[in-house]
Amino acid sequence: MHEMSIAMNVVEIATSQALQNEAHRINSITIDIGSLAGVMVESLEFCFASACKDTMAEGAELVINHIEARGSCRDCGEAFAAETYLTACPACGGFKIDILQGQELKIKTINVD
Ligand SMILES: [Zn+2]
Repeated sequence: MHEMSIAMNVVEIATSQALQNEAHRINSITIDIGSLAGVMVESLEFCFASACKDTMAEGAELVINHIEARGSCRDCGEAFAAETYLTACPACGGFKIDILQGQELKIKTINVD
């Protein structure tokens, strides 16, 4: 499952960061997830709990920052909320879009003891 490998990756990165900082346990991990990142949040939350088992992140909270996708039109420069890669520009109807944000999938902060 896609979300399981993401969850394991997040726990692995957080654990190595925590060890570098000589922490004993991870309290919470905050991640940015863009709406175009292709991640099912509910599934990720579920997988995260099991990925944390028997690690220093066991019982840690997963805090998710949802980032709404935005695009800008290459033809007219309009910036707008882009729900998909194929969202048409609301100003001119064009499909030549640069995605400005919404593809994020990264760890923002790790809270440790
Ligand atoms: Zn446009």
